[in-house]
Amino acid sequence: MARHRAKGQLVDVLARVDLDRKKAVAAVVAAGALAGAGFTQAMATVTPVDRIMPVAATKDLAAAMTPQPEGIKTVHAMDTSAETRKLLQAEQIEVQFHVREALRSAEGAYAERQAAIKAEQARIAAEEEAKRPKCVRPAQGTFTSGFGARWGTSHNGVDIANAIGTPIVAAMDGTVIEAGPASGFGLWVRIQHEDGTITVYGHMNTIDVPQGAKVKAGQQIATIGNRGQSTGPHLHFEVWVGGSQKINPVGWLAERGVTL
Ligand SMILES: [Zn+2]
Repeated sequence: MARHRAKGQLVDVLARVDLDRKKAVAAVVAAGALAGAGFTQAMATVTPVDRIMPVAATKDLAAAMTPQPEGIKTVHAMDTSAETRKLLQAEQIEVQFHVREALRSAEGAYAERQAAIKAEQARIAAEEEAKRPKCVRPAQGTFTSGFGARWGTSHNGVDIANAIGTPIVAAMDGTVIEAGPASGFGLWVRIQHEDGTITVYGHMNTIDVPQGAKVKAGQQIATIGNRGQSTGPHLHFEVWVGGSQKINPVGWLAERGVTL
């Protein structure tokens, strides 16, 4: 209906234009909205029109077609015609395409940056791992007793005396294979290292790692105490090579760059 009315108005306007041949008219018409046999016929009746330019449609085509001052060749009176919608859709599709492209590009840059950050973190971690000591002194304090014969018996480790609560740390990386009460030791922790060597820590006040825990050299595993057969707060430290042969910890630590 609207189209028919518009066509009727167009015919009227064009007829008016026909009467005033001196005036040029830019007929601004929606190709889609007004392209029909009727329109074509209407156009056929107005050959004197100087210019006819296909354009967007109008609700008020008559107004749009009002003769314009010299020099103005086009008139726009827009409507959301099918043609306009098509154009808008095409534009939207193009915009969406560009937005997708931009997002894809941004995502690519983000992924690249993330990969670079990960690589840098891995490099720093490797560097720190390389710098990390492989063997450390198991506790700070005073070396009070060495390995060997003592008081008519064999002292199977070394003693480092310090206040109750002083941290005891793993001498090397390893796995806690035992953590709890032990005869003579009060409490003990045994850590097995990669080469099978076991380090033993005794008399502690508290145990800070559970059996089965993976520990790093220097990681706190307990605190110095005075439990078991002990004559004062100290760490009793043993080294069992091959898992059973008790050796002098002083030499074992010295081989690894640690002095007591
Ligand atoms: Zn001891």
